[in-house]
Amino acid sequence: MDLAIIGGGLAGLVAAFELAGAGRRVALYEAQAQAGGQVRTRHQNGYLIEEGAEGFVAADVAVPALCKELGLADQIIPQLERRSLLLRGGSLSDLSTRDGAALLGIPVPDESRPGGLSSLKAGMGALPHALLNTLKGKVEIFSDCPVTRIDRANGQWRLTTSGGATREAPNVLLAVPPRAAAALIAPIDPEAAALLETLVLTSNLCVSLGYPRTAVSHPLAATGFVVAPGNEGSEGLRACGFSSSKFANRAPRGTVLLRAFFRPEPDELHVSDEGWVDRSVRVLGAVLGLSGTPAEALVSRWPEAIPQYGPGHQGLVGELLGRLERLGSLHLAGAAYVPGGVPGAVRSGRDVARSVARPLPV
Ligand SMILES: Cc1cc2nc3c(=O)[nH]c(=O)nc-3n(C[C@H](O)[C@H](O)[C@H](O)COP(=O)(O)OP(=O)(O)OC[C@H]3O[C@@H](n4cnc5c(N)ncnc54)[C@H](O)[C@@H]3O)c2cc1C
Repeated sequence: MDLAIIGGGLAGLVAAFELAGAGRRVALYEAQAQAGGQVRTRHQNGYLIEEGAEGFVAADVAVPALCKELGLADQIIPQLERRSLLLRGGSLSDLSTRDGAALLGIPVPDESRPGGLSSLKAGMGALPHALLNTLKGKVEIFSDCPVTRIDRANGQWRLTTSGGATREAPNVLLAVPPRAAAALIAPIDPEAAALLETLVLTSNLCVSLGYPRTAVSHPLAATGFVVAPGNEGSEGLRACGFSSSKFANRAPRGTVLLRAFFRPEPDELHVSDEGWVDRSVRVLGAVLGLSGTPAEALVSRWPEAIPQYGPGHQGLVGELLGRLERLGSLHLAGAAYVPGGVPGAVRSGRDVARSVARPLPV
């Protein structure tokens, strides 16, 4: 094996795709049963629910190029609505999408760019799914297999997985989120681990709700609304996406799909699904005129998942990569280091793979 990739989110999968294409022998370790990381689509009772990313900036070329290579180019679908709303003082008014993204604090979809967002017909989960299918037989994939430790042994990196198995590799790519990377790097380079700990990450929790169209009095002719700071009675709601207005085929005929976004405090992440659904229904009910109980509900928790690319971010990442470069054969990839959400993760996986595919130290 030439290289072990730890983390099967988009960055890790794309790196594996690129390296396998360059004839490298790769093993990929993913902690969860299902790869894809923050890109996860659920098909539930006719609803297509995005638990993480719902799309990618249409004007960015990274994802369309990858889709083309994977035979998914004809699956790309456009954003249907471009108008966004602002909830202030309990009522909704028009909002520029650029302001919306800024207010939301989500550094990803800049829907104000030409073309807005694009998505995939069968949901964003089709992207990791296609990558995994392409990698079958070319890359060793271990899912449900978190790596718990890496250290040096016999001039190689030795990986230990949660089951206690070990494996040696001359090169390692860490494509895990920053806190997981910090835990793995700490015994090798505590200063690099400390830098990883300083990257600012916020948590996200979203509640997807399906309703009969007749149970929502608002016309929903928009992408959704962002909550202005200080709006009374929003109980921590930051935004609501009108998922079925934004992209085609997200809800069965005669129904709609809404997605409420919260930025929970650590202790709120443990509140039951029921509690989050109740809170969402209460808050959205007052704004959109909901009646009855939702026909479908799904709560998705994303602790410390959203990187905040503040003014110090680029310098910090530069310092971090400089430290790792000195170690020579340990690499880092992910959207936490290359801004842009889904396109950032794709670009990061490709760039790192291309740089390590050249002369791999053995
Ligand atoms: C709610 C939400 C909505 C979003 N919406 C959008 C959007 O609309 N558009 C957009 O462009 N972006 C969006 N994003 C961001 C985008 O999804 C991410 O930036 C991108 O998917 C991150 O990919 P990644 O590979 O860098 O990291 P991740 O997806 O976090 O992948 C890391 C992987 O490492 C695995 N892992 C962790 N620890 C270990 C370990 N010890 N051993 C092995 N594996 C491990 C994890 O299980 C995971 O699969 C959204 C994110 C969230 C949470």
